[in-house]
Amino acid sequence: MTTITLVQGDITRQSVDAIVNAANSSLLGGGGVDGAIHRRGGPEILADCRRLRASSYGKGLATGQAVATTAGELDARWVIHTVGPVWQAGGGDAPLLASCYRESLRVADELGARTVAFPAISTGVYRWPMEDAARIAVETVLNTPTGVEEVRFVLFDARAYEAFAERLG
Ligand code: ADP
Repeated sequence: MTTITLVQGDITRQSVDAIVNAANSSLLGGGGVDGAIHRRGGPEILADCRRLRASSYGKGLATGQAVATTAGELDARWVIHTVGPVWQAGGGDAPLLASCYRESLRVADELGARTVAFPAISTGVYRWPMEDAARIAVETVLNTPTGVEEVRFVLFDARAYEAFAERLG
C-alpha cells in the first residue's frame, strides 16, 4: 500500500530515501527545483551527473525517463532525476508527464527506496498548468504498482498545495 502525503515547502528540506528532481535533459543543472537541489546537495550530485553524461547518458536524459545519483548533503540517500515535458501553446504530452512519475517510481523500486518526495514536475519553467499537472501526478502514482510506502508531494506554494489536495479529495 502506498500512502500519498502532501507537504507545502521546500523539497530540499525533506528527510526521505529519495528526492525527485525536475531536471533538464542535460543533467547539468538548471533553475527551480534543480538549482535548489544542487545548491543544497553540494557538488557530489553534479559530479555524479557528469559521470552519467560521460557513460550511459552521452546525449543526456530523455523526456519522461529517470535516473538516480547520490543525494550529496541532502537528507536522503538518492536523488532521482527526471525530465518533464514542456507545455506548448495549447497542450502538452500528458503520457510523457505520467512517465516521469512512473519511471521515477521504477528507479525507486530498483534502489529499494521506501519514501520518495516529488515536486510538481513541469509546472515551473516548463509551464504545465498546475491543476492538470496535479491530476496527472496523483492518477499516475495511484495507478503504478510500487514497493514505495510513502509518496510525498512537496508543493512550493499554497496554490500548488491546493491543486494537489483537491485531487486527493
Ligand atoms: P520544471 O522545469 O519541470 O517546470 P521547475 O523546477 O521550474 O521544474 O518547477 C517545478 C515546480 O517546483 C514548480 O511548481 C516550482 O514552483 C516548484 N519549486 C521550485 N523550487 C522548489 C523547491 N525548492 N521545493 C519544491 N518545489 C519547488
